[in-house]
Amino acid sequence: MPDYEAIIGLETHIQLNTKTKIFCACKADSWFDPPNTNICPVCTGLPGVLPVLNKEVVEKAVLLAVAMHAEVQPVSFFDRKNYFYPDLPKGYQISQYDKPLARGGHLDVPMPDGRVRRVQITKLHIEEDAGKTKNENGRRLIDFNRCGVPLVEMVTGPDLRSADEAAQYIIRLRQLLRWLGVSEADMEKAHLRCDANVSIRPKGADYLNPKTEIKNVNSIVAVRDAIQIEIERQVREVEAGHRIEAWTLEWDEDAAVLRKMRSKETEADYRYFREPDLLPIRMDSERLSVILAELPELPLERRARFVEQYGLPEYDADILTGERSLSDYYEAALKAYGGDPKRVSNWLMNDVLRMINEKGVSAGALRLTPSYLAEVIKLVDAGTVNTSTGKALLDKVESTGRAPGDIVQSEGLAKVSDVDAIRAVCAEVLAENPEQVSTYKGGKVTLIGWFVGQAMKKSRGKADPQKVKAILEEMLK
Ligand SMILES: [Zn+2]
Repeated sequence: MPDYEAIIGLETHIQLNTKTKIFCACKADSWFDPPNTNICPVCTGLPGVLPVLNKEVVEKAVLLAVAMHAEVQPVSFFDRKNYFYPDLPKGYQISQYDKPLARGGHLDVPMPDGRVRRVQITKLHIEEDAGKTKNENGRRLIDFNRCGVPLVEMVTGPDLRSADEAAQYIIRLRQLLRWLGVSEADMEKAHLRCDANVSIRPKGADYLNPKTEIKNVNSIVAVRDAIQIEIERQVREVEAGHRIEAWTLEWDEDAAVLRKMRSKETEADYRYFREPDLLPIRMDSERLSVILAELPELPLERRARFVEQYGLPEYDADILTGERSLSDYYEAALKAYGGDPKRVSNWLMNDVLRMINEKGVSAGALRLTPSYLAEVIKLVDAGTVNTSTGKALLDKVESTGRAPGDIVQSEGLAKVSDVDAIRAVCAEVLAENPEQVSTYKGGKVTLIGWFVGQAMKKSRGKADPQKVKAILEEMLK
C-alpha cells in the first residue's frame, strides 16, 4: 500500500473590524443585534443607489497585506460576481477578481515540533459579505445584516500537508489579525471563516489530484477534524479503486460528518465584470507610507527577538507574544525592572497571566501596571517582603490601584526577619500545643512543617519561613 500525503489549501474570509460597512454607513458588526436592523437601501440593493467605498476597509486590508509580505498593487479594481441566491439582494456581490488589492506573500508558520512551514498566499482581495439564510420550521428566513460587511479574502497555495498544519496556520493567522487590530478574528462569530481544499497523492509525487472543497468550518477544532476525516475518506476511495470527484462538502459540526453540497461550480459561472459604480483603488507610495506608519513589529518577529535579545526560552517567548498587549506589557515591565528578563517572564507567566485570564481583560487594561509589577519584584528581591506576600501584593495592587510600596507600608507587610520577634512567635506556638510538642519529641519530626505553618499564620505570613524553621528546630531539640 503506497503512503499518501495530503495537499491542503485554505481560503479564508476575514471580517474587518471597521465601524461601518464597506459601501454604506450601516453598522458593520451585528452579532448582538436582531435580524434586519442594520440595513439600508445600499446594502439591500435597492434600485438607484450607489456604493461609496469605506476608506478604513482599504487601510486595514493594506496593513494585513503588508504583514503577509504581499505586494500591494498600485491599481486594483472592483468587480461584480453574479449569482442568484435569496440572501444576495443585488444579485451580485461586489468583489475583486483579476486585479486584486495585493498579490503574492506568505506566512511562516512555526509547528509545535520546531519546523517552520512557509505558506504562500496567491492573492488577497476586498469584498462585501452576503446575507444569512436560516432554515426554521420548514420556512426559510433571510437576515440582511451581514450584507455589505467588509471582508478580506485570502487564498493560500496548496502548501499545507496535514490537518494539524492547517490548524496551526489558522491559529497564527488569528494571532496576526488581532495583533494588527484589523479583525476580532473570532471564529465562533464568523469574523474568521475558512474553506479548505483537500486532495491526496502518493508521497513523493509532484502532480495534483482532483480536490474537494470543505465549507462551513467555524472553529480551529472543526478545521482539524473536517480535514482529517476528508483525508481518510479520500485514501479509502483511492484504495478501493475509485476516482475522487471535485465535490463541495459541508461540515456538520454537531454530527462531525461531511455532507455533499453540490458538484463544484467553475468560476465562469459567476460572469465577472468590472463594477461600473466604483473607481479603482489607487495606492501610490505616499498613501502607502501613511498607512504603513501604523504597522507594528509582527508577532513572529517579536517572538524571535525575545529569544535573541533577552535569552528567553522559546516557550516563554511564544506565550509572551501571544497577544500584542501582553508583549508590550512584558517589555515595559522589564524596562522598569532593569534586571533578569527570565525573572520578569516567570512572574508574568505565573501570576499576571492568571489574573488576565480570570478577569478576561487585556494586559494593557490591568491596574497592576508594568511598573507596579517591576516594583513588586524589586521588593521581593530586596527581601522587604517574602515571595508569598509579593504574590498577594499583586492582587492587592490590582484591586486597589495603589502603589505596592504604599500598601506594604500602610498594611505593615514588610517581612519580619528580626530573630527575637520570630523567637517570640515560635515560643507561643510551642506553648499552645504541648501535645504536638511531645509527639515531635517522641520521634515524629515531620511535624516540623505543621509548626512552621502555625508560626507563619501567627505572623500573618510576614516571617521568613527559613528562619522560622531553623528557630523551631533549635527550640524543639
Ligand atoms: Zn447599509
